[in-house]
Amino acid sequence: MIDFHCHLDLYPNAYHLACKVEERNHYTLVVTTSPRAWLVTSKVFADFDNIKVALGLHPEIVQEKLAERELLISCIRQAGIIGEVGIDGSLQYHNTIDLQESILHDVLLQSERCGGKILSIHSRNAESKVLFLIERLCRNSIPVLHWFSGTIEETRRAVALGCWFSIGPPMLHGAKGRRILHELPVDRILPESDGPFAMNGSSPYMPWEAIKISSMVAGTWNMTEDEVHQQFIENLSRLLGNDFGSLDSDRVLSRGFNPSIFR
Ligand code: MN
Repeated sequence: MIDFHCHLDLYPNAYHLACKVEERNHYTLVVTTSPRAWLVTSKVFADFDNIKVALGLHPEIVQEKLAERELLISCIRQAGIIGEVGIDGSLQYHNTIDLQESILHDVLLQSERCGGKILSIHSRNAESKVLFLIERLCRNSIPVLHWFSGTIEETRRAVALGCWFSIGPPMLHGAKGRRILHELPVDRILPESDGPFAMNGSSPYMPWEAIKISSMVAGTWNMTEDEVHQQFIENLSRLLGNDFGSLDSDRVLSRGFNPSIFR
């Protein structure tokens, strides 16, 4: 259906898998971990109309990819969507936290200079740092917080700042994630798989499994699963300006981008 945050390029047999993803999903956002990966992956997946590739630099590998920092900033103008970017404050990445922060600052600043971008943002164990930068720098950009796991207070702050949220099945398996879901506006949520990093037992979540959140979400929102699907389609359509990225409206209709197909 929709997967708004996955690492399709990092699955084995990624190209073969992309053919399946194109068929099974209506829209898939492939986030990349470095600007060089973005350049290559954009070309590899260029023929798949409903698979979009976002420009990123993953916070966990900023040191290894430091040489690509300038490339990242210089590519923002031409990129449709930005991600994965952000800050990871976990212990093992503490030594690069200042660097991560400085890169996210520059990414958000340049995104504004380019008129505002949609960004898929990582904030694990660094929620308040990320929200501080969003508050300071985002005016026209739309931050989509991926797998947000802050406190309830931080969640409310993120909502007040206008953030969107992408949510995957593992997030809702925990009580904390379900509690966060209660705080989030229905019209600012999208499904994500975060595969192949997010695991479903011993195998990675697949991009078409992001939608598995709808059964859990339906209970919280007091909706049917069909209504939840329709809500996600409407959300995506509003986020992307009703054109699903670069798809023109005729093609959108001919491909069946219509909530009624889920009934
Ligand atoms: Mn990710």
